[in-house]
Amino acid sequence: MRIMLTNPRGFCAGVRMAVDVVDRVLDLFPGETVYVYHEIVHNTHVVGRFRGRGVVFVERVEEVPRGAILVFSAHGIPPSVRQQAAERGVQAIDATCPLVTKVHSEAIRYARQGYQVLLIGHRHHQEVVGTSGEVPEATQVVESAADIAGLRIDDPEKLVYLTQTTLSTDDAGVVIEALRAAFPKIKSPPSEDICYATTNRQQAVRVLAPEADLVVVIGSTNSSNSVRLTEIAENVGTAARLVDDAAGLEDSWFATGDETVLVTAGASAPEDLVAGVCRALVEKYGATIECRDVFEEDMEFALPGNLRRMIKERGVAGADRRIRVEKPVVTAGVYGAVALTVEGRRKDEG
Ligand code: SF4
Repeated sequence: MRIMLTNPRGFCAGVRMAVDVVDRVLDLFPGETVYVYHEIVHNTHVVGRFRGRGVVFVERVEEVPRGAILVFSAHGIPPSVRQQAAERGVQAIDATCPLVTKVHSEAIRYARQGYQVLLIGHRHHQEVVGTSGEVPEATQVVESAADIAGLRIDDPEKLVYLTQTTLSTDDAGVVIEALRAAFPKIKSPPSEDICYATTNRQQAVRVLAPEADLVVVIGSTNSSNSVRLTEIAENVGTAARLVDDAAGLEDSWFATGDETVLVTAGASAPEDLVAGVCRALVEKYGATIECRDVFEEDMEFALPGNLRRMIKERGVAGADRRIRVEKPVVTAGVYGAVALTVEGRRKDEG
């Protein structure tokens, strides 16, 4: 068996920042219960590991005691949630990815200019709930081209489309073309809303999947960008499976044991799970590993301002530290990397 290990894969800058926020808050407030609004990122292991450290995940602000610490997830929130948190007097720390915030800002700006916003995305995804909550009266969600007939359009010359950051670029392209055909004057966002991490991971799969017999994507079923990676593989004709970890691998997928398997991971999947999948395939099928670099990424986001202030006030060193991603280590065909370190200490709890 041959494993093609894609680069880039796994944690993006927004996920690294959000995970680091919760990690830092746990360090700063030992003994206090830390609450997180919604799953901090859509990954079963990341959430489970934080639960194991005492973090309580909530879906309603009312579940958070007054004065407690509440972290908003990477997917963003509607202003109504921010308002409820303020009224309840919780200490809110916003781990929304800056690239999601950018889409919020675009929605607000266009609505102020009198545009109706057509937001392409999955109606019930936390990110879309947050973005459409900014200007609900001006926003309509478009999940597919079939929704276009039901839109309420006041002025076809004052329309803009925006997109969820983690869509399939293939699928979004189809919806955008249909919108342009229906409303030729519709405006595009000033820059792509589908983020760099989604685009790069999808493009890596698009380029490499034709060489593989199977694509294994490490990620959770509620992770939009992970599911989209399986769809991109299937769009280029290669079967794909989504697994949370090595335990999800099934023998029936490997009929001969000498297949070429493309391994990648969604933006919320920790690197140690990728290593676990590779190890399982090496041990069971004697797989060799080949790293395939398609894009280099060096994006990183700073911690939220009020968390940086809290860190400074408490005199904790390294307020401006950044997480860096180490290169994977491939030795004699065995993938041995666990990739995240902060200030040189191992930090593989995701
Ligand atoms: S996938 Fe993109 S938008 Fe989402 S957290 Fe990562 S960088 Fe931000």
